[in-house]
Amino acid sequence: MKRAIYPGSFDPITFGHLDVIERSLRIADEVIVGVLNNNSKNPLFTSEERVKMIEEATSHLKNVKVVAFEGLLVDFVKQMNANHVVRGLRAVTDFEYELQMSQLNNALDEDIDTVFLTTRLEYAYLSSSITKEIAMMGGDIRKFVPACVVDKVYDKYQRREKNEQN
Ligand code: ADP
Repeated sequence: MKRAIYPGSFDPITFGHLDVIERSLRIADEVIVGVLNNNSKNPLFTSEERVKMIEEATSHLKNVKVVAFEGLLVDFVKQMNANHVVRGLRAVTDFEYELQMSQLNNALDEDIDTVFLTTRLEYAYLSSSITKEIAMMGGDIRKFVPACVVDKVYDKYQRREKNEQN
């Protein structure tokens, strides 16, 4: 059984992430989406909310699990009994950081290899941050995130606006 870990912030999950998950299932028997619980990044959604959204967005897929984690990725990968990490590459700008991280993880644990999937061209521009920026300005994000995620993003900004007004 080849089990791969796809780690990230997923704040929130986009169609770009979903595409990477779907394509990972062609090379792994099981994909565990690892949701990084990293408060220093000041996420819009809590890790529990992010896990739920990914579960909903991947409910049509078999062999996908979603698990929140903290701390070192290599520890999480071992804990999940896996040896492969999947990461997506959008542009050259992703490459330098991703290369460094994959080499670091391999230095920390030589059993762990990172597999890179290049983005589908139609999602090359897409990121969670871009989605949040557009939503914050009231733009249409239906092309960017799964239907079950759209209103949750708008809700957050409305709530934030209300909190700021109070
Ligand atoms: P992180 O904060 O770890 O970069 P992200 O949630 O932004 O987490 O992304 C997780 C992974 O998904 C990263 O490998 C990133 O390169 C990849 N990714 C993000 N958006 C896309 C996209 N549009 N197409 C392909 N891969 C993507």
